[in-house]
Amino acid sequence: MLDGFLSRPCVAYFSMEIALRNEIPTYAGGLGVLAGDTLRSAADLALPLVGVTLVSRAGYFRQEIDSLGGQLERHVTWEPQRWAQALDAKVAVRIEDKPVWVNAWLYVIESRLGGRAPVLLLDTDLPENRPEDREITHYLYGGDDAYRLKQEMVLGFGGVRILRALGFEISAYHMNEGHSALLGVELMRRFAYPADDVRPGESLYDLPRVRDLCRFTTHTPVEAGHDRFPYGLVKRLFASSVYGYNDHQVPKPGEPGTEHGPIEFGALTALAGDESLNMTRLALNVSDFVNGVAKRHAELSAKMYPGYQVRAITNGVHPFTWSAPSFRELYDRCIPGWCHEPELLLRVHGIPDADILAAHDKAKQALVGKVQALTGVALDPQAATLCFARRMTAYKRPEMLFTDIERLKAIARQHPLQIVLAGKAHPHDEEGKRLIVRLHEHARELAGAVRVVYLPDHDLDLALLLVSGADIWLNTPLPPLEASGTSGMKAAFNGVPSLSVLDGWWVEGCIEGVTGWAIEDAATLYGKLEQVVLPRYYESSDGRHGWVRIMKSVIGTNAAYFNSHRMMRRYATEAYLR
Ligand SMILES: *Cc1c(COP(=O)(O)O)cnc(C)c1O
Repeated sequence: MLDGFLSRPCVAYFSMEIALRNEIPTYAGGLGVLAGDTLRSAADLALPLVGVTLVSRAGYFRQEIDSLGGQLERHVTWEPQRWAQALDAKVAVRIEDKPVWVNAWLYVIESRLGGRAPVLLLDTDLPENRPEDREITHYLYGGDDAYRLKQEMVLGFGGVRILRALGFEISAYHMNEGHSALLGVELMRRFAYPADDVRPGESLYDLPRVRDLCRFTTHTPVEAGHDRFPYGLVKRLFASSVYGYNDHQVPKPGEPGTEHGPIEFGALTALAGDESLNMTRLALNVSDFVNGVAKRHAELSAKMYPGYQVRAITNGVHPFTWSAPSFRELYDRCIPGWCHEPELLLRVHGIPDADILAAHDKAKQALVGKVQALTGVALDPQAATLCFARRMTAYKRPEMLFTDIERLKAIARQHPLQIVLAGKAHPHDEEGKRLIVRLHEHARELAGAVRVVYLPDHDLDLALLLVSGADIWLNTPLPPLEASGTSGMKAAFNGVPSLSVLDGWWVEGCIEGVTGWAIEDAATLYGKLEQVVLPRYYESSDGRHGWVRIMKSVIGTNAAYFNSHRMMRRYATEAYLR
């Protein structure tokens, strides 16, 4: 089954979440979508990558919303056998001194261009495991600290072991965020010096060799956002897989999962922090290539971690996945080769205006139809449509647009305006859930003046409808908390300009009045909407030529650059082949 994937060395791409397809709920938001786009581009470009993640059978939740905006969370299990093939390798990871058996499913990403990328979905739901261990790979970001650490042990330790058991030759390990940093510990164990060769005070592990193999992409712009685990918990779960903190713990070689012996506690704290196991610190210390996801984010990370060189490889999105069917057809017809080489989109300026408008109208009709089907609300296909859809959490500030309801009504009296919202709040994010309730209140306050709809269950399919059916894509994060952001890049593939706070990728992507507009706060948001954006949208004296010129600039400038093919070519030349 793996024939064809084992013939040359691969880069192993580890991510706690990967958005493979809409039917498979193994992602929560932007991080997982990026991981999926990374592997989709690898398949398009025939780069040898193998993805490694958890099977997340019960996945992330499906969101329902009651009439007052209350979020209801439903777990829907998916069936790996429907989409993936069972592989026959099995490895053990020791948790609390018991072997937890891990096997893997193979999901194959098939590129439109003929390439393929394998993804291993790690699974502990095996009859030989204890009932509670069978659930370790069930819930994405579910449970308490202990559950999360067990998941990260299965991902980091189990992932490295199963790659070897399956016969992969790995030339580099790429950690997409710190969740998989324990893979570095597994490699240290693999590259431990024979005990007799180590003199007192010398390192027990060939750390340079580990670093030479590891790459780390950080996504979190603030210290508080990082995954960390108390060492008390680490000692309990690692048990005799770690030694040196407690003389009673004697490693027991020879049992399943002990092939490489235990790790010394002092070596772990030296790399992961003295107070707690900080997964970002660990990842930084086991990798010799570290990057942030946009230029500003890399600068910020370099300040946060003095002594580490943090490079910038700005994120991108997958061209085919994030273009609406009408734009795929248009690009296929007018810009052949765009799926392989999205830089060609700079030729968009040769496409007749009417064709761009027709492709957009189709995408907008699809969104209008979906809104009608989901909410019963009939949007006006002629009216300027502002969309905001992403994870609902405080720093994204979804309420900024509703700061002054009377002002918004006044703007809409001059220039018709309608608003479409969507997004899930993490089940533990109480503020995120309250935001959804308050957005529903604002929708009621605006009734009769501005149509506002909130679409439930934001997923890949809905996201494509939104980023292509919008006229204007809104983003209002609190700087510097948006490390990159990618939904505005998706909008760019559909000619939709962004109206956004300058943070993350938008610092690089905004050319004022050409690819969209920068805002700082509610006042500048209202000011620009009223004075610049909506007047331009409704300008008809020149046959909408001005607006189409913006749409073309968005495609020819931002889609041509902020795509995952450019990102992967950079990873290949700067990170993987170094
Ligand atoms: C792209 C995407 C996101 C990320 O959106 P941001 O605006 O970058 O935060 C979240 N959820 C889904 C379903 C997406 O497709």
